[in-house]
Amino acid sequence: MQILDGNIVSQHLRKQIQEEVAQRKAHGKKIPHLAAILVGSDGASMTYVAAKEKDCHEVGFHSTVLRFDASIAEEALIEEVEKINNNAKIDGLIVQLPLPKHINEKRITETISWKKDVDGFHPMNVGLMFKGLPCFLPATPFGIIKLLEHYHIDTTGMHCVVIGRSDIVGKPMSALMLQKNCTVTVCHSKTKDLASFTRNADIVIAALGKPEFLTGDTIKAGAIVVDVGITRVADATKKSGFALKGDAHYESCAAKASWITPVPGGVGPMTRIALLLNTLHAVKS
Ligand code: NAD
Repeated sequence: MQILDGNIVSQHLRKQIQEEVAQRKAHGKKIPHLAAILVGSDGASMTYVAAKEKDCHEVGFHSTVLRFDASIAEEALIEEVEKINNNAKIDGLIVQLPLPKHINEKRITETISWKKDVDGFHPMNVGLMFKGLPCFLPATPFGIIKLLEHYHIDTTGMHCVVIGRSDIVGKPMSALMLQKNCTVTVCHSKTKDLASFTRNADIVIAALGKPEFLTGDTIKAGAIVVDVGITRVADATKKSGFALKGDAHYESCAAKASWITPVPGGVGPMTRIALLLNTLHAVKS
């Protein structure tokens, strides 16, 4: 079994981005600038935005975080998004989700100019992705593709089972694996006898958010396991009081798989780097 190491690959890509930014600086070209909108004070959202800001600084991007009180009205937030859409200094915009309940998330994400939509959530980018045309790909599926490419894994003709059909992971992942010449099966919460699909899969991409759901006895020998899940599970032996668990039971799957992503250190760092790749793409397009 070999590890699909998201820490190593993301570090490698980070260096490449740093070098490209340094080149742009040296040639007087525009430095990529990512803006993030953060509404309210949800702990997880604040942590994610801080990590994105840190990632930007590390590679030499400019980064701006616009913070708004949780009570901001939907119309006022729309105006803020439009201001950024019209601000030529900013190349990419993300709105950290979830938003407070009184704000329509769909309306906000669809207000972001698709040319600055580095999260790849705008219907225009979704449509371009399904057609295989240049666009901003959602960060997690994009990161997984970069990880497989780094290890020269040719998925042509493989049967890929994606577990989960969310708009941000499962659905786009299935479209990208189809473009990678896989035969794709998408399983979800209503799938009957899910193990009958995973046992026949050459590659399983687990994105359902149920810790240790995929076990070694439900995959075939030599399968590739990509574990997207990250769930905090109470663990008294840890100082933090919790452990991060993936959607795959690591020990039993690793014993049978040909390749596997660890959690943490697999898909997570690749998701972060994919946002930077999209922002770099934004400044060039
Ligand atoms: P989601 O809750 O939006 O979607 C979960 C999907 O799993 C749904 O489509 C549902 O049908 C399916 N599902 C739920 N229970 C199931 C079951 N018992 N059997 C089969 N399918 C089932 O979640 P999401 O946003 O797609 O994220 C999935 C997981 O990936 C979460 O743990 C999330 O934290 C993690 N995640 C990690 C990263 C990363 O960077 N590593 C990025 C995004 C999401």
